[in-house]
Amino acid sequence: MNSAASLLQEQTSESALARADRLPSNVLKRRAGQRRQMLAVQAVSYSLGTMALLVYCYAGTISVVIPAAYFVSGITLVGCFVVLSESHVNDRFEDHYLTLFQVAGHVALQLGFLLAAPEIGYAFLSILFLIFGFGALRMTSRQATVAWTLLVTGLAPIFLLTTTPIGMLLATPVERLAAMLCYVLTIGQCAFVGLYGSSMRKALYHRSFELKAAYKRIEELAELDELTGSFNRRCIMRMLDDEISRAHRINTPCSIALIDLDWFKRINDAYGHPTGDEVLRTFAITVFANIRNIDRFGRYGGEEFLLVLPETEIDAATRMLDRLRAIIAELDWSAFSPGMQVTISAGVATLRPNETDDTFLARADSALYAAKARGRNRIAKV
Ligand code: GH3
Ligand code: MG
Ligand code: MG
Repeated sequence: MNSAASLLQEQTSESALARADRLPSNVLKRRAGQRRQMLAVQAVSYSLGTMALLVYCYAGTISVVIPAAYFVSGITLVGCFVVLSESHVNDRFEDHYLTLFQVAGHVALQLGFLLAAPEIGYAFLSILFLIFGFGALRMTSRQATVAWTLLVTGLAPIFLLTTTPIGMLLATPVERLAAMLCYVLTIGQCAFVGLYGSSMRKALYHRSFELKAAYKRIEELAELDELTGSFNRRCIMRMLDDEISRAHRINTPCSIALIDLDWFKRINDAYGHPTGDEVLRTFAITVFANIRNIDRFGRYGGEEFLLVLPETEIDAATRMLDRLRAIIAELDWSAFSPGMQVTISAGVATLRPNETDDTFLARADSALYAAKARGRNRIAKV
């Protein structure tokens, strides 16, 4: 129950409550860990890009300032997000990755370098695919539209208003090596993003199964009595009302039995409360084994149970209850304690035209009272 409830709590907390002060600490910790992973990947990505740029540097295509600046500005940008993340500023936002801000920052940086080193502009342009691929994993469609609009706003002036030649220099073998490195590294990182996306999908798929199981367990717990496994009072009363409505609607008989264990207080006193619990459990199992699929059995309170018998006339219901009474009385209870005897009494009633659950139950209760008064271990009908 606890794990099911905590899983649900975690899920609802994450989706509905974005405020850090309302999130449990384990969720905040897990989120911070996920952000750390993502930012580490970005730092690695800038380091790989710098390596490719250094090859261009070695070829004499660009000044050493470009890779140095690329590394410093990339790591600084990632560092800013690390500071925000570690100080939990991110947790104040619905999207705790701040995906839009990250995409905007990295795109601006690539465009800056596109202008600074247009002769190898293709390298920075290809990184844009990577940024959008990574961002798309987290962005909503609205965020993606905003990010794309920002990208167009940045790219349009460069392409349409300048005559800057955006190139891919392949004049020397080293330049060809650098170009190949740029592509290979970018495509490799794109593949990594794809794999990361599919692992996220798989995790979500498993989570949905866990959630379904948790919901099912909670539903069961809301309907069942913990001790006996029979329906709890709220549930059996709802079932009784449904059955009464159905019986009135299609004009079919419906009987109920209020069953009470005889001298149960004495059983508790003589053998102890835990043994009393076991007796209740065994009684419930015995009832389940001897009723029909359409019958409904629930705990009405304490050692009193309600059995709803649809499509059953009073005589058939009384016979059925008497059979049940005999089974309980003849059961070998000595396994609990030598010489133990358990019997039940029950009051049976059949639904009258236009009768409500109150009077229906009251009649069954008075029949039970009569069975007790007549000496117990018997069935009485009204
Ligand atoms: P009667 O034949 O008139 O029904 O006598 P009784 O002793 O069964 O009736 P009474 O109402 O005096 O006592 C019912 C007892 O059932 C008292 C209560 O402690 C016990 N009881 C109720 N719920 C539980 C339970 O969940 N576990 C155990 N062990 N005992 C319970
Ligand atoms: Mg009793
Ligand atoms: Mg009782």
